[in-house]
Amino acid sequence: MPKSKSKSKSKSKSKSKVTIGHVFKTIVWPRKKLLFIGLVLIIISRLAGLVPPWATKPFMDEILVKKNMHMLPSILIGVTVAILIQAITSFLLTKLLSVEAQHLISVLRSRVQQHLLRLPTRFFDDQKSGALVSRVMNDVEGVRNLVGTGLVQLIGGVLTAVISIIFLIKISPLMTLFVLLPMSIFGLITLKAFSIIRPVFRERGKITADVTGRLTETLNGIRVIKGFNAEPQEVKVFEAGVEKLFLNVKKSLTSTSFVTSSGTFLVGLASVGIMGLSGYFNLTAGDFLQFTMFMVFMIAPIVQMSNIGSQLTEAFAGLDRTEELMNIPVEDDPLHRTEKIGLIKGEIIFNHVSFAYEEGKTVLNDVSFQAPEGSVTALVGTSGSGKTTIAGLAASFLNPASGTITVDGIDLSKIALNSYRSQLGVVLQDDFLFEGTIRENILFPRPQSSNEELLQAVKAGYVDEFTSRFEAGLDTVIGERGVKLSGGQRQRIAIARAILANPRILILDEATSNLDTESESLIQESLRTLMRGRTTFVIAHRLSTIRQADQILVIENGQIAEHGKHDELITKKGRYFELYTYQARI
Ligand code: ADP
Repeated sequence: MPKSKSKSKSKSKSKSKVTIGHVFKTIVWPRKKLLFIGLVLIIISRLAGLVPPWATKPFMDEILVKKNMHMLPSILIGVTVAILIQAITSFLLTKLLSVEAQHLISVLRSRVQQHLLRLPTRFFDDQKSGALVSRVMNDVEGVRNLVGTGLVQLIGGVLTAVISIIFLIKISPLMTLFVLLPMSIFGLITLKAFSIIRPVFRERGKITADVTGRLTETLNGIRVIKGFNAEPQEVKVFEAGVEKLFLNVKKSLTSTSFVTSSGTFLVGLASVGIMGLSGYFNLTAGDFLQFTMFMVFMIAPIVQMSNIGSQLTEAFAGLDRTEELMNIPVEDDPLHRTEKIGLIKGEIIFNHVSFAYEEGKTVLNDVSFQAPEGSVTALVGTSGSGKTTIAGLAASFLNPASGTITVDGIDLSKIALNSYRSQLGVVLQDDFLFEGTIRENILFPRPQSSNEELLQAVKAGYVDEFTSRFEAGLDTVIGERGVKLSGGQRQRIAIARAILANPRILILDEATSNLDTESESLIQESLRTLMRGRTTFVIAHRLSTIRQADQILVIENGQIAEHGKHDELITKKGRYFELYTYQARI
């Protein structure tokens, strides 16, 4: 059986390793009743399985040699009943344990997905979504072998082997020794092989996730790839990934096939020894046959165990990786985020806030400003200056490295995220719409809203302007399998969604793409409705928005270079004036 003894020289320094004890406590023990029933079933099945080899001796010696025919019916009935019991128990085993294993897989998948969604947005910056999909879906699959028949088979196998050994010793201790010796060598080889295979399986999960991740990205970015004629490049990358996967599988195949072959060889060796010895000791035909049959019954589970061992190794490798993910701390840490806030007014203050994505590379440096309740703060500045980072901090997606952000005077880093985010609305440039109807897309932050509220939001976002032209109206399906919308239409759905959510704080990233003038003016209009009365941070690209803002923050190299209203800043003829005249010129 595989042991989780960690080889310290392996590269898993910071990686968590699942121990047998931990898995036993969390996965096996809670299902002890079921597994116990499984164990009883397997014991019955294995005991029944011993009847046919046991029956060979009376059959040979009494029936074939001595012709005691009156014993034949009872032998035949006994063997038939035993076979029937085996069939029934194995059916029940699968029904009980395999079903429970599948249930556990779905429970674990949900748990991992839940945890994943609670991780900070920063975590997702460095991850391929396809790889995460693979981790949620594939890595937990292994438990099938723990709870399913794997573990029980293993215990049943040990049991059969032990009982068989007792019978073998009874027939001939010396011959038994001849069987046990090669089998012990086989056991050692198996153990060694599994300690080699476990990291290989672990690596396989990672490679699979990488390859899946890249493929997902390729498919998502198909337009860019075709546009730049980059298909050969993608084919090459994918081929390399698949090749890596192949090499990994090859490595584990070599180990497992070595185990199987050495098993076959050593079993053969034992048989030769037995043949020789039984000739030497003058065994009866029945004794020889019975001995050989029991030997097979002892060896078969041991060989089978090597198979189960490989399944269990795979299970542990998968659980290792799942555990690694589950150990990443969630963003809404209840120990630190203790303040549960009610309805807020929405005054946000940045006090000497600094921030770095990577240590030593400061992105924001000593940013201080106030955003009064219901005000609009426009963030302007060149690309990479830090506008998105400021918005991310205000949205609590990021936490300041130093300094504080307060909401109505309460430190944002202490506020329970649920209570803050439920009052937050985010409208991004390329806003996220999912497969489904327009209605579902607008309703998704507030699924319980009344139809009236929905229609109000639809009107305010000027969504009805185009949905009225669709036959199914708001129930028109959008996305891959539905109607394709223009950029402006998507924006308006996102705005209607935010209006329906009715947040106190609003984060807006204005679209940079050029919209047709009609769309543009409708969007302007709906944005005005959306911003009214809410504390808004807008990464502003449109002059009209900037002009109307209560305050403009000109961000430069992670600092506030200028601060004021449009007219003030124009008069000042500083950095804002430069940006403004530059933009006006183009
Ligand atoms: P802006 O919104 O003004 O274009 P950002 O706030 O997005 O600027 O970025 C500010 C700086 O932070 C840039 O230098 C950018 O490269 C860096 N940055 C942004 N996001 C990340 C990230 N996830 N990891 C590391 N660096 C980042």
